[in-house]
Amino acid sequence: MNPYPLRLLTIAISCALLLNLPGCGGTEDTDTVSSSSTDTVTDTDTDTDSDSDSDSEDLGSGILHTAYYEFDQDNVNVVLSGTKVVIETNGLPNHTSPYWSSSNELHVEPTVTSYAKMAPGYIDDFVGTYTLTVDNSPSKASTTSATGLGAIGIAVSGSVIYNDEEGPGVPLDDAATSLDFNGAHTGPQSYHYHLEPISFSDDDSNLIGVIADGFFLYGRKCNSTGTYPTDLDESGGHTSITQFAQDAEYHYHIQNELYLGSYYILFPGNYQGSASAIR
Ligand SMILES: [Zn+2]
Ligand SMILES: [Zn+2]
Repeated sequence: MNPYPLRLLTIAISCALLLNLPGCGGTEDTDTVSSSSTDTVTDTDTDTDSDSDSDSEDLGSGILHTAYYEFDQDNVNVVLSGTKVVIETNGLPNHTSPYWSSSNELHVEPTVTSYAKMAPGYIDDFVGTYTLTVDNSPSKASTTSATGLGAIGIAVSGSVIYNDEEGPGVPLDDAATSLDFNGAHTGPQSYHYHLEPISFSDDDSNLIGVIADGFFLYGRKCNSTGTYPTDLDESGGHTSITQFAQDAEYHYHIQNELYLGSYYILFPGNYQGSASAIR
């Protein structure tokens, strides 16, 4: 008898086992990683206003505008509800400032302002929330409307955006020396921005935040061209694609016009859409 074929078969089986080839008893798993189709980050944290750190980006029945994913997830809670977007923030900025109390890890020494010139109050003093509800796909109104005192938008950092006035009949110029390097200071309520906030937008096309009429505000440059837009309306707005919109849509920019020689005002114009209250 010739044992040779048997020996070959034994070798073949051994090789198959060593190499762990398929068909040697192993099961072939096909795609055991099922990817969730909805990006839902929800914690059911329903504590007090002082610590509103719940994060929820619910795609719901529609698709939340992707720009909202730029908002700080610790400070800002964004929920799509039908055609509306509800943005809630604790009002605190996610960056350094001399307006944080000295015990806070985000506190830094003043640079463009000074302790003597700073407005009273610390960022830490604000305990509460701001809520804004806007259309997920806003459209321009038939007429423009003036912005008012107080919050006119919510920035990606978590703090709120003010216009170019400091108070009733008080121009921003009178308070400009109290502004920190982000063009912000504390006010009658919370820390708020009046000027280009260089911690998150410094002569670029970064997203600044959402204005109360639902349109987004970007830095001085537009992502569609990589440079300063030249077709802006009186509110600093125009219609083009952005880094968050493949289809052209209306949005605002910080206008590239110097204020007090070295600053840029965030939003001095009128709303082009229908503004909702920020409470
Ligand atoms: Zn102010
Ligand atoms: Zn643009």
